[in-house]
Amino acid sequence: MMRLLKFTFNAFQENTYILYDDKNQGAIQGVIIDPGMSNQKEWEEVMEALEAHSIDLQSIVLTHGHIDHVLGVHRLLEWKPSMPIYGHKITQEVLNAQPDYAALFGIHLPSAPEITHFFASGEKIRVGEETLDILYTPGHCPGEVSFYHASSKTLIAGDVLFYESIGRTDLPGGDLPTLLEAIREQFWPLPDDTTVYCGHGPETTLGYEKVHNPFL
Ligand SMILES: [Zn+2]
Repeated sequence: MMRLLKFTFNAFQENTYILYDDKNQGAIQGVIIDPGMSNQKEWEEVMEALEAHSIDLQSIVLTHGHIDHVLGVHRLLEWKPSMPIYGHKITQEVLNAQPDYAALFGIHLPSAPEITHFFASGEKIRVGEETLDILYTPGHCPGEVSFYHASSKTLIAGDVLFYESIGRTDLPGGDLPTLLEAIREQFWPLPDDTTVYCGHGPETTLGYEKVHNPFL
């Protein structure tokens, strides 16, 4: 069964998620989505959670390339150098700009994280025996994707849709009509009782946002 752990990290209050499949005894496989750990305390939080749930972390998965969603990537690779990074091809271009962008905020990002596996069309992300659909949802950031787990009606929405809000579109490559179209085409057909796990802030549901979101 798919399980989810939520963490809120770094100066941007970014939500990092670990998804894992607890079906197997022994080696329980999991992935970390948008690792935002920025200091020792946040790093230890992740390590303790992995140990507490006996999770063998298989890969890093990115919704998009903004700095607050990738601050923990370098440390994860120091810990497990062979760990693959999954992301959209366009996300690599965004990542390449992040060391300079980070410096504007006084954050040191030693180098641009390198995606090792670009999403192919129709591909799904494996989490143990479970799979996540990849939804293409640009508009906040070029190449942004969201992840949907159908049987638990779980949507990892990155910075696309928030509780009573949406992702900002004033950063490089952002576009409001593109974002609204992505939400309407990719999210609205999903069940209303889908839980939305956002890149910032609390969870919501698609049904709630259809009624209460002032942007839609
Ligand atoms: Zn973002």
